[in-house]
Amino acid sequence: MQKLLSPEEIATQAGSEGSTNRLPAPHLFAERAARLRTLADGHAMGDFLRFAARLADAQQSRLDKLTAPRPDSAHLERCRQHGMPPLDAQGAELPADWQDSLKALAADVAAHAPAGLQNAIAGLADIPAERLDALARAILRCEETLSNPLELALAPLIGAALQVQWTARAQALQVGDIPSGFEDSLCPACGSHPVASIVRIGDAGHGVRYAACSLCACEWHVTRIKCVPCHNTRDIAYQGLENEQGNPHPAVKAETCPECHSSLKIVSMEKDPFADAFADDLATLALDMLVDETGFHRAGRNLFLFTP
Ligand SMILES: [Zn+2]
Ligand SMILES: [Zn+2]
Repeated sequence: MQKLLSPEEIATQAGSEGSTNRLPAPHLFAERAARLRTLADGHAMGDFLRFAARLADAQQSRLDKLTAPRPDSAHLERCRQHGMPPLDAQGAELPADWQDSLKALAADVAAHAPAGLQNAIAGLADIPAERLDALARAILRCEETLSNPLELALAPLIGAALQVQWTARAQALQVGDIPSGFEDSLCPACGSHPVASIVRIGDAGHGVRYAACSLCACEWHVTRIKCVPCHNTRDIAYQGLENEQGNPHPAVKAETCPECHSSLKIVSMEKDPFADAFADDLATLALDMLVDETGFHRAGRNLFLFTP
């Protein structure tokens, strides 16, 4: 009989055979913007998706100007040994320049933003720096401390700025720096929730599934037909969108788990090679409503849609 491996043994094996994690691509946000524009064509939420594309373009311009340091080797070693995220988003200090990123994004998108966000951007200079830090921490920790309408309107922009900062930090890592092989429900690089999962093709392994981080855009391997939040493998089911013409978005399905009643999307590059976990998630909010009506709550977190 074959012996079952402990998570530590799996991690060690994964380390020697190549990592089960993927770092964010250099032009991630530009590619996402292109995908959002494709998805916006003929879409009921086309204006929203086109604005999201502008914001993703602004994120790429800001990312291109940032250089983040790689954490020191003692810290990386400690994290690898204990399976802890080296770029912890919950407890660690905020990057010193994150508010510069916020202001750069605000300046880039202000003219094209929806009215609520435009008003919030106009009031941005009046919000004290300490309050902006508190809002950023609340978003990173999924806390419900944002209450007034102006702060709620700013939340996607703050989320976008934090994504740029953490993506720059993730890009400064080497793939072996991230704890590997744990198949956790949270990102092994930064500890944040996934936005969705993606079935990849090509060099990432044909048909291999990864969970995509909502913050740093790293991806970690997760088994197919297994609930990412609770690891249950029994009675996993799938739901897709449907209209008179059939399925309007065949690359996206919702994986539902009867154990924890959550649902995480699976975006398939086998069905559409240009699919992007974040963009295709935004374009299929109708699927979240459908799944919600059948009693499953959304497990994915998308920082452009502020929900604590
Ligand atoms: Zn992450
Ligand atoms: Zn579950």
